[in-house]
Amino acid sequence: MPDPRTLADATPLSDRPPGHRDTGTPGHRAAGPPETGAGRPPGQGPTEAEENAVPPVSTAASQAGMRRRNLSLVLHAVAGHGEISRAAVAAEVGLTRAAVSTLVEELLSLGLLAEAGLTRPGTVGRPGTALVLSDRGPAGLGAEVGVDHLAACVVDLRGKVRASAYAEAPNRDHPPERVLADLAGLVVRAAREGAAAGLRPVGITVAVPGLVGRDPGIVERASNLGWEQVPAGPLLTAALADAEPPAGTPADDPSHAPSAGPPSSAGRLSGLPIGLDNEANLGALAELWLGGHDRDLRHFLHVSAEIGIGAALVVEGRLFRGAHGHAGELGHVPVRPAGPACPCGARGCLEQYAGEEAVLRAAGLDPARAAAEHPGPGGRVRLLAERAGTDPAVRRALHQAGSALGLALSGAVNVFDPQKVVLGGGLAELSPWLLPGIESELRRRVTDRHWPDGAVAVSSVGREGPLLGAANSVVRSVLDDPTSVRPRENPS
Ligand SMILES: [Zn+2]
Repeated sequence: MPDPRTLADATPLSDRPPGHRDTGTPGHRAAGPPETGAGRPPGQGPTEAEENAVPPVSTAASQAGMRRRNLSLVLHAVAGHGEISRAAVAAEVGLTRAAVSTLVEELLSLGLLAEAGLTRPGTVGRPGTALVLSDRGPAGLGAEVGVDHLAACVVDLRGKVRASAYAEAPNRDHPPERVLADLAGLVVRAAREGAAAGLRPVGITVAVPGLVGRDPGIVERASNLGWEQVPAGPLLTAALADAEPPAGTPADDPSHAPSAGPPSSAGRLSGLPIGLDNEANLGALAELWLGGHDRDLRHFLHVSAEIGIGAALVVEGRLFRGAHGHAGELGHVPVRPAGPACPCGARGCLEQYAGEEAVLRAAGLDPARAAAEHPGPGGRVRLLAERAGTDPAVRRALHQAGSALGLALSGAVNVFDPQKVVLGGGLAELSPWLLPGIESELRRRVTDRHWPDGAVAVSSVGREGPLLGAANSVVRSVLDDPTSVRPRENPS
Protein backbone atom coordinates (compact mmCIF):
# COMPACT_ATOMS: atom_id res chain seq x y z
CA MET A 1 0.00 0.00 0.00
CA PRO A 2 1.26 3.51 -0.63
CA ASP A 3 2.93 5.03 2.40
CA PRO A 4 0.37 7.32 4.03
CA ARG A 5 3.19 9.42 5.43
CA THR A 6 3.89 10.89 2.02
CA LEU A 7 0.27 11.96 1.72
CA ALA A 8 0.17 13.51 5.13
CA ASP A 9 3.52 15.21 4.65
CA ALA A 10 2.39 16.97 1.54
CA THR A 11 -0.82 18.39 2.87
CA PRO A 12 -1.63 21.20 5.26
CA LEU A 13 -3.20 20.35 8.58
CA SER A 14 -5.76 23.06 8.73
CA ASP A 15 -8.19 24.07 6.06
CA ARG A 16 -10.48 26.32 7.92
CA PRO A 17 -10.50 29.60 9.74
CA PRO A 18 -9.02 29.48 13.23
CA GLY A 19 -11.61 28.95 15.87
CA HIS A 20 -14.03 27.37 13.45
CA ARG A 21 -15.21 24.26 15.20
CA ASP A 22 -16.15 21.21 13.27
CA THR A 23 -18.92 19.47 15.12
CA GLY A 24 -18.48 16.80 12.47
CA THR A 25 -15.50 15.38 14.32
CA PRO A 26 -16.61 12.03 15.60
CA GLY A 27 -15.17 12.32 19.08
CA HIS A 28 -18.54 13.24 20.50
CA ARG A 29 -19.47 9.62 20.32
CA ALA A 30 -16.47 8.65 22.41
CA ALA A 31 -17.25 5.45 24.27
CA GLY A 32 -14.42 5.16 26.75
CA PRO A 33 -14.37 6.40 30.31
CA PRO A 34 -14.39 10.18 30.56
CA GLU A 35 -11.14 11.93 31.38
CA THR A 36 -11.80 13.40 34.73
CA GLY A 37 -8.85 15.74 34.57
CA ALA A 38 -10.29 17.65 31.68
CA GLY A 39 -13.97 17.56 32.44
CA ARG A 40 -14.62 16.19 28.98
CA PRO A 41 -12.84 13.77 26.67
CA PRO A 42 -10.99 14.97 23.58
CA GLY A 43 -13.46 15.56 20.84
CA GLN A 44 -16.25 16.54 23.10
CA GLY A 45 -16.08 20.18 22.12
CA PRO A 46 -18.18 23.02 23.40
CA THR A 47 -21.87 22.32 23.41
CA GLU A 48 -24.14 24.17 21.07
CA ALA A 49 -25.36 26.15 24.08
CA GLU A 50 -21.76 27.18 24.86
CA GLU A 51 -21.14 28.03 21.23
CA ASN A 52 -24.15 30.28 21.05
CA ALA A 53 -23.91 31.69 24.55
CA VAL A 54 -23.80 35.45 25.02
CA PRO A 55 -20.48 36.17 26.78
CA PRO A 56 -19.88 36.49 29.66
CA VAL A 57 -21.58 36.67 32.99
CA SER A 58 -18.79 36.57 35.46
CA THR A 59 -18.95 33.02 36.76
CA ALA A 60 -16.22 30.42 37.02
CA ALA A 61 -17.99 28.30 34.40
CA SER A 62 -18.20 31.06 31.82
CA GLN A 63 -14.58 32.01 32.45
CA ALA A 64 -13.53 28.41 31.90
CA GLY A 65 -15.53 28.35 28.67
CA MET A 66 -13.94 31.61 27.53
CA ARG A 67 -10.46 30.34 28.36
CA ARG A 68 -11.11 27.14 26.43
CA ARG A 69 -12.37 29.09 23.42
CA ASN A 70 -9.40 31.44 23.45
CA LEU A 71 -6.88 28.61 23.80
CA SER A 72 -8.56 26.96 20.83
CA LEU A 73 -8.48 30.17 18.78
CA VAL A 74 -4.73 30.49 19.34
CA LEU A 75 -4.08 26.83 18.56
CA HIS A 76 -6.12 27.01 15.34
CA ALA A 77 -4.25 30.17 14.31
CA VAL A 78 -0.93 28.35 14.66
CA ALA A 79 -2.33 25.26 12.89
CA GLY A 80 -3.55 27.42 10.01
CA HIS A 81 -0.15 29.02 9.43
CA GLY A 82 2.26 26.26 10.36
CA GLU A 83 4.62 28.82 11.87
CA ILE A 84 3.55 32.19 13.27
CA SER A 85 4.67 34.85 15.77
CA ARG A 86 2.72 35.75 18.90
CA ALA A 87 2.10 39.22 17.44
CA ALA A 88 0.61 37.75 14.27
CA VAL A 89 -1.59 35.42 16.33
CA ALA A 90 -2.84 38.43 18.33
CA ALA A 91 -3.62 40.32 15.12
CA GLU A 92 -5.44 37.33 13.69
CA VAL A 93 -7.58 36.32 16.67
CA GLY A 94 -8.31 39.86 17.86
CA LEU A 95 -6.94 39.50 21.40
CA THR A 96 -4.31 41.69 23.07
CA ARG A 97 -0.63 40.73 22.87
CA ALA A 98 -0.60 40.22 26.65
CA ALA A 99 -3.63 37.92 26.54
CA VAL A 100 -2.12 35.90 23.70
CA SER A 101 1.19 35.60 25.55
CA THR A 102 -0.59 34.15 28.58
CA LEU A 103 -2.53 31.68 26.41
CA VAL A 104 0.63 30.70 24.55
CA GLU A 105 2.45 30.01 27.83
CA GLU A 106 -0.36 27.66 28.83
CA LEU A 107 -0.32 25.89 25.45
CA LEU A 108 3.48 25.53 25.69
CA SER A 109 3.15 24.02 29.16
CA LEU A 110 0.48 21.60 27.90
CA GLY A 111 2.94 20.44 25.24
CA LEU A 112 0.62 21.54 22.42
CA LEU A 113 2.86 24.32 21.08
CA ALA A 114 6.61 24.55 20.63
CA GLU A 115 8.93 27.42 19.74
CA ALA A 116 10.84 27.34 16.48
CA GLY A 117 13.53 29.97 16.15
CA LEU A 118 13.11 33.62 15.20
CA THR A 119 10.39 34.87 12.90
CA ARG A 120 11.50 36.44 9.66
CA PRO A 121 11.50 40.20 9.10
CA GLY A 122 8.34 41.44 7.42
CA THR A 123 6.00 39.63 9.78
CA VAL A 124 3.78 41.64 12.09
CA GLY A 125 5.57 43.26 15.06
CA ARG A 126 9.11 42.85 16.34
CA PRO A 127 11.00 39.72 15.36
CA GLY A 128 10.24 37.07 17.98
CA THR A 129 10.18 33.37 18.52
CA ALA A 130 7.88 31.62 16.05
CA LEU A 131 5.25 29.24 17.35
CA VAL A 132 4.57 25.84 15.81
CA LEU A 133 2.35 22.93 16.80
CA SER A 134 4.36 20.47 18.86
CA ASP A 135 5.51 17.33 17.09
CA ARG A 136 5.87 15.52 20.42
CA GLY A 137 3.42 14.81 23.21
CA PRO A 138 -0.34 14.70 22.57
CA ALA A 139 -1.21 12.80 19.39
CA GLY A 140 -4.14 11.21 17.56
CA LEU A 141 -4.56 7.47 17.11
CA GLY A 142 -6.66 6.24 14.20
CA ALA A 143 -7.70 2.64 13.60
CA GLU A 144 -9.60 0.95 10.82
CA VAL A 145 -11.61 -2.24 10.49
CA GLY A 146 -11.92 -3.16 6.82
CA VAL A 147 -13.70 -6.16 5.36
CA ASP A 148 -10.32 -7.78 4.76
CA HIS A 149 -7.76 -5.67 6.57
CA LEU A 150 -6.99 -3.91 9.84
CA ALA A 151 -4.85 -0.81 10.32
CA ALA A 152 -3.76 1.70 12.94
CA CYS A 153 -1.68 4.87 12.84
CA VAL A 154 -0.50 7.68 15.08
CA VAL A 155 -0.44 11.25 13.81
CA ASP A 156 1.13 14.21 15.56
CA LEU A 157 -0.68 17.52 16.03
CA ARG A 158 0.60 18.65 12.62
CA GLY A 159 -1.28 15.75 11.02
CA LYS A 160 1.87 13.89 10.05
CA VAL A 161 1.76 10.09 10.26
CA ARG A 162 4.50 9.06 12.68
CA ALA A 163 3.70 5.39 13.27
CA SER A 164 1.55 2.81 11.55
CA ALA A 165 0.64 -0.86 11.62
CA TYR A 166 -1.29 -2.89 9.09
CA ALA A 167 -2.49 -6.47 8.69
CA GLU A 168 -4.50 -8.36 6.12
CA ALA A 169 -7.36 -9.99 7.97
CA PRO A 170 -10.42 -11.85 6.67
CA ASN A 171 -12.90 -10.10 8.97
CA ARG A 172 -16.11 -11.05 7.20
CA ASP A 173 -18.30 -13.16 9.52
CA HIS A 174 -15.55 -13.40 12.13
CA PRO A 175 -16.66 -12.80 15.73
CA PRO A 176 -16.36 -9.08 16.51
CA GLU A 177 -14.46 -9.90 19.72
CA ARG A 178 -11.75 -11.58 17.67
CA VAL A 179 -11.58 -8.83 15.06
CA LEU A 180 -11.27 -6.17 17.77
CA ALA A 181 -8.66 -8.20 19.67
CA ASP A 182 -6.59 -8.31 16.46
CA LEU A 183 -7.15 -4.57 16.02
CA ALA A 184 -6.05 -3.95 19.62
CA GLY A 185 -2.76 -5.69 18.83
CA LEU A 186 -2.14 -3.28 15.93
CA VAL A 187 -3.16 -0.27 18.03
CA VAL A 188 -0.64 -1.26 20.72
CA ARG A 189 2.07 -1.71 18.06
CA ALA A 190 1.40 1.69 16.50
CA ALA A 191 1.21 3.39 19.91
CA ARG A 192 4.50 1.83 20.96
CA GLU A 193 6.19 3.07 17.79
CA GLY A 194 4.64 6.50 18.43
CA ALA A 195 5.86 6.45 22.05
CA ALA A 196 9.41 5.93 20.82
CA ALA A 197 9.00 9.23 18.93
CA GLY A 198 7.72 10.94 22.08
CA LEU A 199 4.05 10.82 21.10
CA ARG A 200 1.20 9.94 23.42
CA PRO A 201 -2.28 9.39 21.94
CA VAL A 202 -5.04 11.27 23.76
CA GLY A 203 -7.90 9.49 22.01
CA ILE A 204 -8.69 6.75 19.51
CA THR A 205 -11.11 6.92 16.61
CA VAL A 206 -12.02 3.75 14.75
CA ALA A 207 -13.29 3.69 11.15
CA VAL A 208 -15.78 0.90 10.46
CA PRO A 209 -17.51 -0.18 7.24
CA GLY A 210 -20.97 0.11 8.72
CA LEU A 211 -23.63 2.24 10.32
CA VAL A 212 -22.75 4.03 13.52
CA GLY A 213 -25.79 5.76 14.93
CA ARG A 214 -26.16 8.14 17.82
CA ASP A 215 -25.42 5.52 20.50
CA PRO A 216 -21.78 5.91 21.49
CA GLY A 217 -19.61 2.88 20.90
CA ILE A 218 -22.19 0.82 18.98
CA VAL A 219 -21.88 -0.36 15.38
CA GLU A 220 -25.54 -0.73 14.49
CA ARG A 221 -25.00 -2.72 11.33
CA ALA A 222 -22.07 -3.64 9.13
CA SER A 223 -23.58 -5.96 6.50
CA ASN A 224 -20.27 -6.80 4.87
CA LEU A 225 -18.82 -7.86 8.22
CA GLY A 226 -22.00 -9.62 9.39
CA TRP A 227 -22.18 -7.29 12.44
CA GLU A 228 -25.46 -6.23 14.09
CA GLN A 229 -25.57 -4.02 17.22
CA VAL A 230 -21.93 -4.67 18.11
CA PRO A 231 -20.60 -2.66 21.11
CA ALA A 232 -17.31 -2.12 19.33
CA GLY A 233 -16.10 0.71 21.61
CA PRO A 234 -16.35 -1.26 24.88
CA LEU A 235 -15.05 -4.41 23.14
CA LEU A 236 -11.97 -2.56 21.92
CA THR A 237 -11.39 -1.04 25.37
CA ALA A 238 -11.47 -4.54 26.88
CA ALA A 239 -9.22 -5.92 24.14
CA LEU A 240 -6.71 -3.11 24.70
CA ALA A 241 -6.62 -3.86 28.42
CA ASP A 242 -5.74 -7.48 27.53
CA ALA A 243 -3.21 -6.48 24.85
CA GLU A 244 -1.26 -3.94 26.91
CA PRO A 245 1.37 -5.05 29.38
CA PRO A 246 0.20 -4.46 32.98
CA ALA A 247 0.94 -0.96 34.23
CA GLY A 248 4.47 -0.52 35.51
CA THR A 249 5.94 -3.56 33.76
CA PRO A 250 8.53 -3.28 30.99
CA ALA A 251 7.31 -3.37 27.40
CA ASP A 252 7.50 -6.74 25.63
CA ASP A 253 10.36 -5.52 23.55
CA PRO A 254 12.17 -2.65 25.26
CA SER A 255 14.00 -1.76 22.05
CA HIS A 256 10.71 -0.37 20.68
CA ALA A 257 10.46 2.33 23.29
CA PRO A 258 13.85 3.06 24.70
CA SER A 259 13.06 6.35 26.34
CA ALA A 260 9.30 6.58 26.56
CA GLY A 261 8.79 3.08 28.00
CA PRO A 262 5.41 1.43 28.21
CA PRO A 263 2.29 3.51 28.65
CA SER A 264 1.99 4.60 32.29
CA SER A 265 -1.15 3.68 34.19
CA ALA A 266 -2.39 7.24 33.54
CA GLY A 267 -1.70 6.98 29.82
CA ARG A 268 -2.89 3.45 29.15
CA LEU A 269 -4.58 2.94 25.80
CA SER A 270 -7.47 1.12 27.44
CA GLY A 271 -8.17 4.30 29.41
CA LEU A 272 -8.53 6.51 26.34
CA PRO A 273 -11.83 7.68 24.93
CA ILE A 274 -12.73 5.63 21.86
CA GLY A 275 -14.80 7.15 19.07
CA LEU A 276 -16.36 5.17 16.24
CA ASP A 277 -17.41 6.43 12.87
CA ASN A 278 -18.40 5.20 9.47
CA GLU A 279 -15.42 4.90 7.13
CA ALA A 280 -17.11 7.04 4.48
CA ASN A 281 -17.62 9.87 6.98
CA LEU A 282 -13.97 9.76 8.00
CA GLY A 283 -12.88 9.55 4.36
CA ALA A 284 -14.85 12.72 3.64
CA LEU A 285 -13.30 14.51 6.63
CA ALA A 286 -9.84 13.47 5.41
CA GLU A 287 -10.78 14.94 2.03
CA LEU A 288 -11.86 18.18 3.73
CA TRP A 289 -8.72 18.43 5.89
CA LEU A 290 -6.04 16.83 3.70
CA GLY A 291 -7.42 16.92 0.15
CA GLY A 292 -5.62 20.11 -0.86
CA HIS A 293 -8.84 21.81 -1.97
CA ASP A 294 -9.46 25.55 -1.98
CA ARG A 295 -10.95 26.90 1.20
CA ASP A 296 -14.08 27.75 -0.72
CA LEU A 297 -14.93 24.08 -1.21
CA ARG A 298 -17.48 23.85 1.63
CA HIS A 299 -20.22 21.67 0.10
CA PHE A 300 -19.29 18.37 -1.44
CA LEU A 301 -20.34 14.78 -1.72
CA HIS A 302 -17.53 12.27 -1.19
CA VAL A 303 -18.05 8.77 -2.57
CA SER A 304 -15.79 5.80 -2.02
CA ALA A 305 -16.05 2.08 -2.60
CA GLU A 306 -14.60 -1.12 -1.30
CA ILE A 307 -17.00 -4.03 -1.33
CA GLY A 308 -19.66 -1.60 -0.22
CA ILE A 309 -20.14 1.94 -1.43
CA GLY A 310 -20.09 4.78 1.06
CA ALA A 311 -20.82 8.42 0.65
CA ALA A 312 -20.71 11.37 2.97
CA LEU A 313 -22.03 14.86 2.55
CA VAL A 314 -20.06 17.88 3.75
CA VAL A 315 -22.24 20.97 4.18
CA GLU A 316 -20.75 24.32 5.22
CA GLY A 317 -17.48 22.52 5.96
CA ARG A 318 -19.17 20.11 8.36
CA LEU A 319 -20.26 16.53 8.06
CA PHE A 320 -24.00 16.14 7.56
CA ARG A 321 -25.03 13.13 9.64
CA GLY A 322 -28.82 13.13 9.37
CA ALA A 323 -31.38 12.56 12.10
CA HIS A 324 -30.07 9.14 13.15
CA GLY A 325 -26.44 9.42 12.06
CA HIS A 326 -27.16 7.30 8.98
CA ALA A 327 -26.80 9.87 6.18
CA GLY A 328 -24.76 8.92 3.13
CA GLU A 329 -25.84 5.33 2.47
CA LEU A 330 -25.55 5.84 -1.28
CA GLY A 331 -24.68 2.16 -1.75
CA HIS A 332 -28.27 1.25 -0.88
CA VAL A 333 -29.95 3.73 -3.18
CA PRO A 334 -32.01 1.63 -5.63
CA VAL A 335 -30.70 1.58 -9.17
CA ARG A 336 -33.08 -1.12 -10.42
CA PRO A 337 -35.90 -1.96 -8.00
CA ALA A 338 -36.12 -5.58 -9.20
CA GLY A 339 -32.36 -6.11 -9.35
CA PRO A 340 -30.19 -8.57 -7.42
CA ALA A 341 -30.67 -9.09 -3.68
CA CYS A 342 -28.40 -6.99 -1.45
CA PRO A 343 -27.10 -7.96 2.03
CA CYS A 344 -29.14 -5.00 3.38
CA GLY A 345 -32.34 -6.92 2.57
CA ALA A 346 -33.44 -4.79 -0.39
CA ARG A 347 -32.95 -5.44 -4.10
CA GLY A 348 -31.15 -3.65 -6.89
CA CYS A 349 -29.03 -1.37 -4.67
CA LEU A 350 -26.16 0.62 -6.24
CA GLU A 351 -23.70 -1.66 -4.42
CA GLN A 352 -24.96 -4.56 -6.56
CA TYR A 353 -23.83 -2.69 -9.68
CA ALA A 354 -20.82 -0.63 -8.65
CA GLY A 355 -19.31 -2.43 -5.62
CA GLU A 356 -15.98 -4.15 -6.28
CA GLU A 357 -17.41 -7.67 -6.27
CA ALA A 358 -20.31 -6.70 -8.51
CA VAL A 359 -17.92 -5.18 -11.06
CA LEU A 360 -15.70 -8.27 -10.99
CA ARG A 361 -18.72 -10.51 -11.61
CA ALA A 362 -19.97 -8.28 -14.41
CA ALA A 363 -16.52 -8.54 -16.00
CA GLY A 364 -16.67 -12.35 -15.87
CA LEU A 365 -14.12 -12.60 -13.04
CA ASP A 366 -14.62 -14.66 -9.87
CA PRO A 367 -14.49 -12.30 -6.83
CA ALA A 368 -13.23 -15.04 -4.46
CA ARG A 369 -10.43 -16.01 -6.82
CA ALA A 370 -9.56 -12.36 -7.45
CA ALA A 371 -9.34 -11.76 -3.69
CA ALA A 372 -7.13 -14.84 -3.21
CA GLU A 373 -4.80 -13.90 -6.06
CA HIS A 374 -4.74 -10.17 -5.28
CA PRO A 375 -5.08 -9.97 -1.51
CA GLY A 376 -5.30 -6.87 0.62
CA PRO A 377 -7.07 -3.59 0.12
CA GLY A 378 -6.55 -2.34 -3.38
CA GLY A 379 -5.76 -5.80 -4.76
CA ARG A 380 -9.02 -6.20 -6.67
CA VAL A 381 -8.97 -2.57 -7.77
CA ARG A 382 -5.45 -3.00 -9.15
CA LEU A 383 -6.59 -6.15 -10.96
CA LEU A 384 -9.47 -4.24 -12.59
CA ALA A 385 -7.22 -1.31 -13.50
CA GLU A 386 -4.63 -3.63 -15.08
CA ARG A 387 -7.21 -5.61 -17.03
CA ALA A 388 -9.12 -2.52 -18.18
CA GLY A 389 -6.24 -1.66 -20.52
CA THR A 390 -6.64 -4.86 -22.52
CA ASP A 391 -9.95 -6.52 -21.68
CA PRO A 392 -13.12 -5.05 -23.24
CA ALA A 393 -15.31 -6.99 -20.76
CA VAL A 394 -13.63 -5.22 -17.83
CA ARG A 395 -13.96 -1.83 -19.54
CA ARG A 396 -17.65 -2.51 -20.21
CA ALA A 397 -18.25 -3.57 -16.59
CA LEU A 398 -16.57 -0.42 -15.31
CA HIS A 399 -18.54 1.78 -17.69
CA GLN A 400 -21.79 0.20 -16.48
CA ALA A 401 -20.68 0.72 -12.87
CA GLY A 402 -20.00 4.38 -13.71
CA SER A 403 -23.49 4.74 -15.18
CA ALA A 404 -25.06 3.18 -12.07
CA LEU A 405 -23.00 5.55 -9.88
CA GLY A 406 -24.03 8.51 -12.03
CA LEU A 407 -27.69 7.51 -11.75
CA ALA A 408 -27.55 7.33 -7.95
CA LEU A 409 -25.39 10.45 -7.68
CA SER A 410 -27.72 12.50 -9.86
CA GLY A 411 -30.47 11.96 -7.27
CA ALA A 412 -28.17 13.09 -4.47
CA VAL A 413 -26.92 16.09 -6.48
CA ASN A 414 -30.47 17.18 -7.32
CA VAL A 415 -31.43 17.03 -3.64
CA PHE A 416 -28.32 18.55 -2.05
CA ASP A 417 -26.78 20.79 -4.73
CA PRO A 418 -23.10 20.24 -3.79
CA GLN A 419 -20.24 22.19 -5.40
CA LYS A 420 -18.48 18.95 -6.31
CA VAL A 421 -18.66 15.20 -6.18
CA VAL A 422 -15.31 13.75 -5.08
CA LEU A 423 -14.43 10.15 -5.96
CA GLY A 424 -12.26 8.59 -3.26
CA GLY A 425 -10.71 5.23 -2.39
CA GLY A 426 -10.86 2.59 -5.11
CA LEU A 427 -13.16 4.80 -7.21
CA ALA A 428 -10.32 7.31 -7.60
CA GLU A 429 -8.03 4.61 -9.01
CA LEU A 430 -10.70 3.41 -11.43
CA SER A 431 -11.88 6.91 -12.37
CA PRO A 432 -10.52 6.85 -15.95
CA TRP A 433 -13.06 4.14 -16.78
CA LEU A 434 -15.86 5.22 -14.43
CA LEU A 435 -16.00 8.94 -15.19
CA PRO A 436 -17.57 8.78 -18.66
CA GLY A 437 -20.61 6.89 -17.32
CA ILE A 438 -20.85 9.05 -14.19
CA GLU A 439 -20.62 12.35 -16.05
CA SER A 440 -23.00 11.35 -18.80
CA GLU A 441 -25.72 10.46 -16.25
CA LEU A 442 -25.11 13.65 -14.26
CA ARG A 443 -25.34 15.79 -17.41
CA ARG A 444 -28.62 14.13 -18.36
CA ARG A 445 -30.22 14.13 -14.94
CA VAL A 446 -29.06 17.11 -12.92
CA THR A 447 -31.84 19.56 -13.48
CA ASP A 448 -30.64 22.82 -12.00
CA ARG A 449 -28.33 23.62 -14.95
CA HIS A 450 -25.54 24.53 -12.51
CA TRP A 451 -23.66 21.28 -12.85
CA PRO A 452 -20.48 22.25 -14.70
CA ASP A 453 -18.08 19.95 -16.48
CA GLY A 454 -15.24 18.96 -14.17
CA ALA A 455 -17.41 19.10 -11.04
CA VAL A 456 -16.61 15.44 -10.46
CA ALA A 457 -13.16 15.52 -8.83
CA VAL A 458 -10.80 12.64 -8.16
CA SER A 459 -9.39 12.48 -4.64
CA SER A 460 -5.64 12.57 -4.07
CA VAL A 461 -5.91 11.41 -0.45
CA GLY A 462 -5.88 7.74 -1.44
CA ARG A 463 -7.11 4.55 0.06
CA GLU A 464 -5.92 5.50 3.57
CA GLY A 465 -8.47 8.35 3.76
CA PRO A 466 -10.67 6.77 6.46
CA LEU A 467 -7.65 5.88 8.62
CA LEU A 468 -6.13 9.36 8.22
CA GLY A 469 -9.53 10.92 8.90
CA ALA A 470 -9.84 8.83 12.08
CA ALA A 471 -6.44 9.85 13.46
CA ASN A 472 -6.84 13.50 12.45
CA SER A 473 -10.29 13.68 14.04
CA VAL A 474 -8.60 13.10 17.41
CA VAL A 475 -6.12 15.88 16.62
CA ARG A 476 -8.98 18.19 15.61
CA SER A 477 -10.70 17.52 18.91
CA VAL A 478 -7.54 18.66 20.72
CA LEU A 479 -7.37 21.83 18.61
CA ASP A 480 -11.05 22.48 19.40
CA ASP A 481 -10.60 21.91 23.13
CA PRO A 482 -6.97 22.17 24.27
CA THR A 483 -8.07 21.83 27.91
CA SER A 484 -8.99 18.20 27.21
CA VAL A 485 -5.25 17.42 27.35
CA ARG A 486 -4.01 16.88 30.87
CA PRO A 487 -0.56 18.23 31.75
CA ARG A 488 0.63 14.78 32.83
CA GLU A 489 0.05 13.53 29.29
CA ASN A 490 3.00 15.60 28.13
CA PRO A 491 6.37 14.04 27.46
CA SER A 492 8.62 14.48 30.45
ZN1 LIG B 1 -28.61 -2.64 -0.22
